[in-house]
Amino acid sequence: MTIADAFVKAYSVINSPKYEKILVSISGGADSDVVLDICSRCDRDQKCTYVWIDTGLEYQATKNHLDDLEKIYGIKILRVRAKMPVPVSCKKYGQPFISKTASEYIYRLQLNNFEWEDKPYDELIKRYPNCKSALMWWCNLNKAARLNISYNKWLKEFMILNPIPFKVSNMCCQKAKKDAVHDLLKGYDLNIYGVRKAEGGARSSIPSCFSVKDGYSEYRPVFWYSNLDKKEYCDACDICHSDCYTEYGLKRTGCCGCPFGRDFEYELKVVRKYEPKFYKAINNIFKDSYDYTRKYREFANKMNYGI
Ligand code: SF4
Repeated sequence: MTIADAFVKAYSVINSPKYEKILVSISGGADSDVVLDICSRCDRDQKCTYVWIDTGLEYQATKNHLDDLEKIYGIKILRVRAKMPVPVSCKKYGQPFISKTASEYIYRLQLNNFEWEDKPYDELIKRYPNCKSALMWWCNLNKAARLNISYNKWLKEFMILNPIPFKVSNMCCQKAKKDAVHDLLKGYDLNIYGVRKAEGGARSSIPSCFSVKDGYSEYRPVFWYSNLDKKEYCDACDICHSDCYTEYGLKRTGCCGCPFGRDFEYELKVVRKYEPKFYKAINNIFKDSYDYTRKYREFANKMNYGI
């Protein structure tokens, strides 16, 4: 039912006279493969333009997969280079660490020379009056657990004992991905992309598959798909995925070695084996984040299990 509902909705949205020019963001990942299949089946009047953003850290397997998709669907996928690729953004603003939320708040606190103190919010806000939400995160005062530092067990204790020695930021996502899409959207009235609520994280707070923004609308055709729905769709429609999944055994694609990946150590092994030209590069770009994450994990293990 979810698949049928989503398909009917996609057909009516894509063929609505309200939208003349539609931008479909392709990532080369598994969700995006399903979105492309849905769009290509529904796009009666060829209103869709397919675009892929090169963040500067894209797997060769993803690039090869785009070539395959073009042949399979008889489409052209525009390749657009990010205005500020990930390596440049990391150098300028800081490296991603642990999660988008944690990186965003650490970034704001670092900008205000926060000293990673274990003090109550009322005291801290007087000294850092521009850091309200970041201090709410630090002091675990948000209702939503994922917006508190305690969502990453022992992280606060670790950071108090080991103040973070490098610049942290999630700005690369903004600079390398969102800004590029934002610029491209100027000529379009609908943006379609593959996000599923079941993936969790920040996505779980998006209320529905459709939203209206300033000057354009956004539509997420697989938003309500569970993992099983996705698998059933892929099996039924014979969807092909990139080698990142089928050969490398990765569970996600996107930027090679992103420190947000829970299993970045496994990803590093994969990169060394299959895409060695990236191995040295990502170990340079994300070095501090990897090192600090490893230290934090060691600390958390000690606290949890005494090892
Ligand atoms: S996925 Fe990771 S490395 Fe890529 S832009 Fe986002 S935070 Fe940066």
